Amino acid sequence: MSRIVFRNARLFDSAEATLKPHATVVVEDEKIEAVSFSSPPMPALHDDQVFDLDGRVLLPGLIDAHVHVTATVSDFFQLTLIPQSLITAQTKDVLDAMLSRGFTTVRDAGGADSGLVRAVENGHFAGPRLYIAGRAISQTGGHGDPRPEFFQGMRCVCCGALGLLGHVADGVPAVRRAVREEIRNGAHHIKVMAGGGVSTPNDPLDGTQFSIEEMRAIVEEARAAKTYVMAHAYSPEAIQRAVQCGVRSIEHGNLIDENTARMMVDHDACLVPTLSTYAAITRRGKALGWSDAMLHKTAIVTDQGLHALKIAQDAGVKIGLGTDLLGDMMVDQLEELTLRERVMSPAQILRSATAVNAGIMGLAGQVGEIVPGAFADLLVLDGNPLDGLALLQDEKKRLAVMKGGRFHVNRLPCAS
Ligand code: ZN
Ligand code: ZN
Repeated sequence: MSRIVFRNARLFDSAEATLKPHATVVVEDEKIEAVSFSSPPMPALHDDQVFDLDGRVLLPGLIDAHVHVTATVSDFFQLTLIPQSLITAQTKDVLDAMLSRGFTTVRDAGGADSGLVRAVENGHFAGPRLYIAGRAISQTGGHGDPRPEFFQGMRCVCCGALGLLGHVADGVPAVRRAVREEIRNGAHHIKVMAGGGVSTPNDPLDGTQFSIEEMRAIVEEARAAKTYVMAHAYSPEAIQRAVQCGVRSIEHGNLIDENTARMMVDHDACLVPTLSTYAAITRRGKALGWSDAMLHKTAIVTDQGLHALKIAQDAGVKIGLGTDLLGDMMVDQLEELTLRERVMSPAQILRSATAVNAGIMGLAGQVGEIVPGAFADLLVLDGNPLDGLALLQDEKKRLAVMKGGRFHVNRLPCAS
């Protein structure tokens, strides 16, 4: 197979969070074969396909570390009423759109199953590399148990919605079994609901979920399977309990305080804020039928979102990037980048969305960096994202999206 060569690129070095001029990147099959910096560039081989980027910016493909690709509507209970075959069909469009936006890897935080992973790997669906949690482990009445009040039907919620709804388990033996079951079904990581949530009716935001013994057992089982745990948590108490039990990745974290941020640094835990989902729900939640109680919870976490990011940043917490958008609101995925610009620089934000996320997911050197041996997951931009990340929201400025050496989007003029 002939090689693909990008010349005269300004390359975003995601480890250093800087742009480096005069880059040549050689892609062979699905991997990056070579990266060099020289002007004039290295000569191309006879049958290389060469793209002269003329100073345009080459980024590693973006990573979204908190998605729910099967959440095709935003009401979790409604999701249980959609046939799984239809959700799968809708998810095909979700994945395609994410890849078109430049996200070449995503981490599902509950819902996607190994069938979807294989559908992408085998080329049935165009989409980002998909890493899944399977069903999120939740206690009865926790954030992964969306049954409405007084709903006593025997319908088991965990069967609905391709498992977007949680895997409800109570007690140490049951949570161990739940983790083992998710691993058996192909989960790459484990998701646990460690505190109250916005989109569920009866769990207070500042409440904690699961006992310490249960959470420790969940982490122990994940480690036994050589993986890690991501935990949904808002309040300092919920975050502290999760971190003390060995959870690696704290999701949302909007109500974090300085003490808790320091504790996260001490435990080498990372934070994956998801600001875009609150912005989207604030704009559209009412029209989508969200209850006043849920919108009230949204208002609380929205107000605190940027403040939490600043606290984590100042404490030196590793900050990843997630979105957590549901249903039609997923179109706002790239807004996560611009929302953060009030606290972080564009270069830092891009680093979160590439190298930091790759590290959180245990994929350093494979994705999130443009280095020899990594997957050829690349994004070409017309303009300088370090001047402002709104650039990425303009579809016409996203000149090319490549995943594994194959173009998903290509608007580049070919030089040879
Ligand atoms: Zn969550
Ligand atoms: Zn989520």
